[in-house]
Amino acid sequence: MRIEVINTGSELLLGSTLNTHGAWLGQQLMNLGLRVQRLTVVPDGDAIRDALDESLKTSDAVIVTGGLGPTSDDVTREAVAEVLGVELIEDEHALRCVVGFFDRLGKDMTPSNMKQALNPVGADVLPNPHGSAPGVYVPPRLGSSSCAIFLLPGPPHEMHAMYDAEVAPRLKALTDVPEGDGVKMLKFSGVGESRFQDELDTALHGIGGLEVGYCARPGELDLRLIGSEEKRERGGAMAVDAYPEAFINADGRSLEQTVVEALEFGGLTLASAESCTGGMIASRITDVSGSSKVFTHGYVTYADDAKVVMLGVAEDSLGRYGAVSEEVAREMARGALERSGVDIAVSVTGVAGPGGGSADKPVGLVWLGMSVREDGEVKTFAEKRFYPNGRVLFKQLVSQAVLMKVLRYTRERACK
Ligand code: AMP
Ligand code: MG
Repeated sequence: MRIEVINTGSELLLGSTLNTHGAWLGQQLMNLGLRVQRLTVVPDGDAIRDALDESLKTSDAVIVTGGLGPTSDDVTREAVAEVLGVELIEDEHALRCVVGFFDRLGKDMTPSNMKQALNPVGADVLPNPHGSAPGVYVPPRLGSSSCAIFLLPGPPHEMHAMYDAEVAPRLKALTDVPEGDGVKMLKFSGVGESRFQDELDTALHGIGGLEVGYCARPGELDLRLIGSEEKRERGGAMAVDAYPEAFINADGRSLEQTVVEALEFGGLTLASAESCTGGMIASRITDVSGSSKVFTHGYVTYADDAKVVMLGVAEDSLGRYGAVSEEVAREMARGALERSGVDIAVSVTGVAGPGGGSADKPVGLVWLGMSVREDGEVKTFAEKRFYPNGRVLFKQLVSQAVLMKVLRYTRERACK
């Protein structure tokens, strides 16, 4: 089934409102095994009619959002009637919907709301329990079109509810999508898309009928597999086997959520000692509800003095090696572990930039430390990384790398 989505509203093109409907509908339709072949965003006015006219020629179903309100710039109903060449009349069912909405609120309907009771002749009215604007369903083969058309209101909660109750069931009835075709999204960190391309892409494409796609974002890579459940699972297992160390999850949860759940599963506790990330690691972990079960202390030790007082870092180490050094990263992690009593303590100390770099410690250099308690024995490690990406991205990538280290360690320990 060829599906197109048209999102209307001048605010979407002016940039004052983010077009979340496009993304939301794309996901919902994928859940039904349907793909959006084109997404068009148009301002209020005649552009709606023109976009619709074009979409009707090349698709089997068109979903239009927005422009069903009472104001002069809400013209989606008019546009549909004009394109189909059918009359727009006051509809009894639509009027009951509009009147009923104001009755439930105990408010009077204004004359301008009468416009919302207009419906193209032959089209169905879609009730809107959350707002004054009823939706419209034009079944295939009405007027000049052979296409199914859905008009949905702009406010997100109204649009979502109407899609679930009215649109999804009608689309299911119109299509015969093969059972089980769907999407699997696997999240990785620490392996770039070019390595996937060079090392795995050919093998994944060897699974005939499996669509493979990638989406890279800072510190993370999504692998998208579309096909039957058996093929998705086979492709997913292949990718996880290739990069077990980089695998985060296959269910869309955030890295921090995955870390918290892994710690909880392993019965382990965590503390952080942060310099250059300024608390971002603690912040990301505590974004997860229930993180108090596993996260106990977040030390933000930005100044040398704070590292000495709060973590017990030796002044001698700071003087001899500098704050950004393997030695200090190790002492920070070990100090956090001992002072908090957790099982795992992580530390970061680096040069975020843009100032403060030197020849042997350039902007982007960071030391990641980790101290763990295993059977009463304390083990401490540190490793060097380089993220010369600007201050904000640097913090994001460093916190990502640390969370990945915690995830890997926790999983390895669970396997012992
Ligand atoms: P409308 O009735 O179409 O003018 O839309 C009413 C409200 O829904 C306004 O706050 C819009 O900004 C919001 N809205 C409309 N279209 C979208 C969209 N595509 N994504 C997010 N919000 C939207
Ligand atoms: Mg509008």
